[in-house]
Amino acid sequence: MRTVNAYAAPSATEPLAPTTIERREPGPRDVLIEIAYAGICHSDIHTVRGQWGPQHYPLTVGHEIAGTVAEIGSEVTRYRVGDRVGVGCMVNSCRECDNCRAGEEQYCLNGNVGTYASLDRDGTITQGGYSTHVVVDEDFVLRLPESIPFERAAPLLCAGITTYSPLRHWGVGPGTRVAVVGLGGLGHMAVKIAHALGAEVTVLSQSLRKKDDGLAMGADHYYATSDPETFERLRNGFDLILNTVSAPLDLDTYLRMLALDATMVNVGAPPEPLPLHVFSLFGNRRSVAGSSIGGIRETQEMLDFCAEHGIAPETELIPASSINEAYERVLGSDVRYRFVIDIATLAPGQ
Ligand code: NAP
Ligand code: ZN
Ligand code: ZN
Repeated sequence: MRTVNAYAAPSATEPLAPTTIERREPGPRDVLIEIAYAGICHSDIHTVRGQWGPQHYPLTVGHEIAGTVAEIGSEVTRYRVGDRVGVGCMVNSCRECDNCRAGEEQYCLNGNVGTYASLDRDGTITQGGYSTHVVVDEDFVLRLPESIPFERAAPLLCAGITTYSPLRHWGVGPGTRVAVVGLGGLGHMAVKIAHALGAEVTVLSQSLRKKDDGLAMGADHYYATSDPETFERLRNGFDLILNTVSAPLDLDTYLRMLALDATMVNVGAPPEPLPLHVFSLFGNRRSVAGSSIGGIRETQEMLDFCAEHGIAPETELIPASSINEAYERVLGSDVRYRFVIDIATLAPGQ
């Protein structure tokens, strides 16, 4: 085992603080990654605060990881020391079930191993990327294209793939009218990717405060959901609505904006159940769906797609000492548009 510096939540109610965690010695198929940057996903906050269920503490979160390969196991074939790599939301899966064989490891029927807060094969609880190093099986390591700035690449590993996957699955392309609800970490990536796919993109945000940003990212239209007129004006108007909001929404109101056979895909993950009136689905034969991150093959495809189209997240680089402050800003919808922790600033644990 190796002891490395990290930031961890001591409990669901205390701020994150510097500490140390243990990483396993790299096995034959493992890659030891020296982490340079870690994005702050809203899921980190839901998780450390116990909103999705009780956790084991102390807990280090972070599943948007960008770093450099520092060591490789004897059987590693795909990576070399010095390669720029990424790790997203999962670090293992059974590899044998139908979904794993289909390249959809995120839907592993035996449960994938999450990058943090998950039971690992060795019986330990996985610890995430707010740390200086991580050890990952090479099959769950991604290659970061050279053209994506290193300090902006990390958020692609969750926010990028979580929006790319449903946009591709539901066939978004030229002529598709896409609405993105919430212009945060996921939402801003959804706008950039949907625009690059050729769709007509509308942002539905709580206010018009970020309108100029949204249009600059590639949105064609921008509306405030605080204005009831918005929902009337856009009735029956979308082929796909991608809901990235971290809080509950009134689904019925949003569903009325779907055109014939259109779908509202939920990637936002509020802890509360969302009530739904089935009559909202009857009109226009509408569908409501969900989507979880993406498979490893598709994550690499997304990284290459972003490189090809010159897409990168809008990020604000922060020292580790500002993590708790950044959490409050995320909770206040005051993120432009992803906080990224500069891991070089990670103070030694006590
Ligand atoms: P984020 O940066 O906080 O963005 C969420 C956005 O939702 C905010 O910027 C805000 O946008 C809007 N919003 C927040 N509270 C709202 C409210 N009460 N009513 C209406 N809109 C509100 O969060 P994120 O990191 O993008 O994550 C978003 C959600 O996706 C989280 O629940 C996260 O856990 C989940 N997630 C799911 C997956 C998956 O695989 N399905 C993966 C990653 C994350 P405006 O200011 O523009 O209104
Ligand atoms: Zn995430
Ligand atoms: Zn599986």
